[in-house]
Amino acid sequence: MEKYVPDMYKKSIYEIDYSKLKEIGIKCLLFDLDNTIVPYNEKIPSEETVTLFKKLVSMEFKVIIFSNSPKLRVKPIGDILNVEVFGNAKKPFIKNYYKVLNMYKFTENEVAIIGDQMLTDIVGGNKVGITTILVEPIINKDPIWTKPNRIRERRIMKKLRDNNLFSKGRYYEKM
Ligand SMILES: [Mg+2]
Repeated sequence: MEKYVPDMYKKSIYEIDYSKLKEIGIKCLLFDLDNTIVPYNEKIPSEETVTLFKKLVSMEFKVIIFSNSPKLRVKPIGDILNVEVFGNAKKPFIKNYYKVLNMYKFTENEVAIIGDQMLTDIVGGNKVGITTILVEPIINKDPIWTKPNRIRERRIMKKLRDNNLFSKGRYYEKM
């Protein structure tokens, strides 16, 4: 069950203490796109998101949007936010996590993934051994292909709660 449990759990990307991530040696932030930084049905990031990403870049994080969506969707948003993108990431498969690590020469303990889905973002990150940060989805609406995962996720979250491993809405940071 541990593979489902994130190292940190926050309401949104704005609630994360990025200075603390810096302190523990994180140099690279992989952000999920849909429902993590923009609602899945939006093409333009909010002013708040633009401001946050500017801050993260100025803090000298390597910021990469690491998304299962096609590059066609991811790239224009990356351009607005001035960060690199990796589309078709196929999370939770670990292949492309390692591809990014190798491409930018980061080790597992220098990278964090931030995303709204336990079964893709978090499971993949935990398998690779990077820091995993779960946030709530921006909107409670998912594309049709995410629905089966959300049903499984709800079932797993219930199991995790019964085992005192994770409780929805109870935010924490382990590090
Ligand atoms: Mg997502």
